[in-house]
Amino acid sequence: MVVDKKMYLFDAGPGFVRNLKALSGKDFMPQDVMFTNDSMYGGLNKVFITHLDSDHVLGLPELLLRPWVLGRDQPQQVIGPKGTRGLVDNTLKAFQDDIDHRLYGTQPANADGYKGEVTEISETQIVHQDDKVTIKAFRVPHGSWDADMSFGYRVDPPTKTIVISGDTRKDEANYENFRGADILIHEVMHEGAISRMPEDWQKYMYHAHTSTSQLAEIAREVEPGLLVMNHPLFFGTTDEDMVEELARHYDGKFVLAQDLDLYE
Ligand SMILES: [Zn+2]
Repeated sequence: MVVDKKMYLFDAGPGFVRNLKALSGKDFMPQDVMFTNDSMYGGLNKVFITHLDSDHVLGLPELLLRPWVLGRDQPQQVIGPKGTRGLVDNTLKAFQDDIDHRLYGTQPANADGYKGEVTEISETQIVHQDDKVTIKAFRVPHGSWDADMSFGYRVDPPTKTIVISGDTRKDEANYENFRGADILIHEVMHEGAISRMPEDWQKYMYHAHTSTSQLAEIAREVEPGLLVMNHPLFFGTTDEDMVEELARHYDGKFVLAQDLDLYE
């Protein structure tokens, strides 16, 4: 999310740095200049993690190390559930040789930019506030993760409210955090595809995720300005199938997210 050229990153999935690079040069983006904290890489220095499933954090090593090489001299701030500190520490351990050769070799390098400054959260709470936005983390139920291990995020900037569901099954307890969203970014799975899975898998999927018809129910209830389906679980179905299945249950405004889509 970018507000007045300030960037806020939610999760660090695989490939996100490449996507960021693809957006550089757009007029709403910070400058793509190296060796400064004001660059788009330096500007990323706060990331909000929903939970520790690998599809949400595989980009974390890149987020810790690449902006540092490009000049960020402040530690990366990472907000996430219990276990986030271990993930950051162990990642840096894995890259110890790389870090050492940059710190003590011939390449100019600053002393702190690769470090992680971690805040672990376990409750529904405000996790960030500045002159532009207030960001609240809220617990969401996701499979067998403990209740304090999986979060969605609600961002209340001056003009628009954006809610990111994180990975969650349908739960009415989420609604109070979804209500009033101008943009609700919600995970989704294709119901037809799930219904063809073995029974134990179906049970697991509904314990962890939200199907199209369930998402339609949620959206009818909380009435977002725009519903963005993301984290789509297709299991052999296509984008068109997903859109068609949701449209069968929902006539509000919605899209299926694609990499590099922009929503204002
Ligand atoms: Zn996931």
